[in-house]
Amino acid sequence: MISGAASRFLAFVGAAPNTSLAQACGLDVSDGILVDAALRTSDPDIFAVGDIANALHPTLVRRIRVEHWATALNQPAVAAAAMLGNDASYDELPYFYTDQYDLGMEYIGFVLPGEYDQVVFRGDVGA
Ligand SMILES: Cc1cc2nc3c(=O)[nH]c(=O)nc-3n(C[C@H](O)[C@H](O)[C@H](O)COP(=O)(O)OP(=O)(O)OC[C@H]3O[C@@H](n4cnc5c(N)ncnc54)[C@H](O)[C@@H]3O)c2cc1C
Repeated sequence: MISGAASRFLAFVGAAPNTSLAQACGLDVSDGILVDAALRTSDPDIFAVGDIANALHPTLVRRIRVEHWATALNQPAVAAAAMLGNDASYDELPYFYTDQYDLGMEYIGFVLPGEYDQVVFRGDVGA
């Protein structure tokens, strides 16, 4: 802290997809733009990828909207393949990792709070 200077802290929590343009185009939206596994919107000539896409996941058999750079990086190739008439679907599982000091955490898949069956702790949880 700088002596004499006022302290201010900003916290940015969460994000909301802006679907106004898609809605104005008549696309189906609900927490993002609804797309099928090929990332095709309710208009077969329009595709959506990345943060804005609420996509049907073929493995998870549910819709998910993933705010992660890997999704934004990898979905466009699937959308492009589908545009070219190929039988394409985006089936990558969401993941993230984080390192906090000497602890690392890795996650892959998709489970909503309350939907898991069992939580397994390894190591000294108290520490
Ligand atoms: C603070 C922050 C930290 C993050 N940290 C991580 C991280 O550590 N790891 C990770 O994996 N992900 C992280 N993310 C998420 C990651 O940045 C996003 O998942 C990724 O950028 C999504 O890419 P996108 O192309 O779908 O969307 P965006 O990167 O949001 O690109 C959308 C673009 O569309 C433009 N646009 C919007 N509306 C219009 C319009 N009407 N006309 C023309 N252009 C328009 C926008 O200006 C923007 O350039 C973070 C995000 C934030 C905000």
